[in-house]
Amino acid sequence: MDFALNEEERALVETIRTMGQREKFRELAARTEKTGEFPLHLMKKFADLGLLGMTLSPEYGGGGQPGVTAVLAIEELAKFSPMIAAPVFESNLGPVRVIDAFGTDAQKRAVLPAVCRGEASVSVGMTEPEAGSDLVSLRTKLTEDGDGFRLNGRKTFISGGGEASHYMVYCRFGDVPGYKGIGAVLLQKDAPGFTFGRQEEFMGLRGMPSCDLIFKDVGIPGESVVLGAGRFAELMTTFDLERCGNAAMCLGIAGGALEEARAYTLERQAFGRPICEFQDVQFRIVDMAMKLDAARLLVYRAATGAGQGFPSMYESSMGKCFANEMAAEVTDGAMQILGGYGYSKEFPLERMHRDALAWRVAGGTVQMLRITMASILFGRRFNQKAPSSER
Ligand SMILES: Cc1cc2nc3c(=O)[nH]c(=O)nc-3n(C[C@H](O)[C@H](O)[C@H](O)COP(=O)(O)OP(=O)(O)OC[C@H]3O[C@@H](n4cnc5c(N)ncnc54)[C@H](O)[C@@H]3O)c2cc1C
Repeated sequence: MDFALNEEERALVETIRTMGQREKFRELAARTEKTGEFPLHLMKKFADLGLLGMTLSPEYGGGGQPGVTAVLAIEELAKFSPMIAAPVFESNLGPVRVIDAFGTDAQKRAVLPAVCRGEASVSVGMTEPEAGSDLVSLRTKLTEDGDGFRLNGRKTFISGGGEASHYMVYCRFGDVPGYKGIGAVLLQKDAPGFTFGRQEEFMGLRGMPSCDLIFKDVGIPGESVVLGAGRFAELMTTFDLERCGNAAMCLGIAGGALEEARAYTLERQAFGRPICEFQDVQFRIVDMAMKLDAARLLVYRAATGAGQGFPSMYESSMGKCFANEMAAEVTDGAMQILGGYGYSKEFPLERMHRDALAWRVAGGTVQMLRITMASILFGRRFNQKAPSSER
């Protein structure tokens, strides 16, 4: 058991920290919040630094690094803003890993090198207006049509929607019910019959594109099927890795908020002394640091266990659940440390708190993660379906 970062990991974190200061990422985060525009120019910068696709297979331009390397990079960037960390998240731990692990050679050649160069990105379309936590009830349907298929349906809340070049769409093959009918196809942004809904307005994550994906008789050639019906388990295995990325976002947001709050207590005076001299303020900062470190250990454990592959479902669910709730608490506590300035839009804390709240829903709610962990702890599945809706 080794809790220390190795030399390469320390160098990576240091490089990102220096880049953040040099490139004024703190100011960029504030600008992104104001304009609502995703900082697309970062794609090229990150690609040049080798941060995009560093976990992807080297034969397709990737870096062949373990998942934990990407977790460390995401955490460091998300201290400024999750929108700044998003390209590193998507290109290393996102649905592109489904292609890397299970795609055909042609699919890999078409997508992975372009992702590493920052010229392509892949979003995941799982959630539907009527199927979120109950993903197995999804209705987006693939029907056979000659040599290929037709895709019909709708996805909702899709991060990167409208901006990403490719979409990994979870869909039902024909009328096969339940999880056994679910697989995934890869779709390009410009496929005829594929359109986007209006951009979502969330309470936080300003600048993160998100919208519905609408499929009307979209022609899908057989070569675009990445995982066919009955391969739902593999999709979920790769999604466990995505959950480590979601958790890394939380580590970063909480770390950024804690640092803002700590620095503030050294400067802010009350009763003629800096507020860091009040023991209650010290204890609140220490409690935040303890929670953040506990989350960090859980998330690093899950990501380290994944190696170059995928994490255990139990460890990734626990890491995400704990980190999601920790980030909500720590950003809330940090906001309170700044008093009235914490509530003001002139300071980044209220933004960080709004951004933090997204992750306990995105990537599976903390309630659904507890259901997963309970089924593993009890060694049995607790069916959530109402008896009348059994298929
Ligand atoms: C910022 C953001 C980004 C997202 N990005 C993506 C994306 O890129 N791709 C994508 O496919 N989706 C994405 N989503 C959608 C997200 O995955 C879903 O919102 C989430 O899985 C919950 O589904 P739902 O919204 O339909 O809520 P519901 O499933 O309707 O749940 C509503 C509430 O009921 C609770 N609940 C439901 N069932 C149970 C149960 N059995 N036991 C206890 N409680 C239960 C839930 O925990 C929740 O609190 C994103 C969402 C957000 C907010």
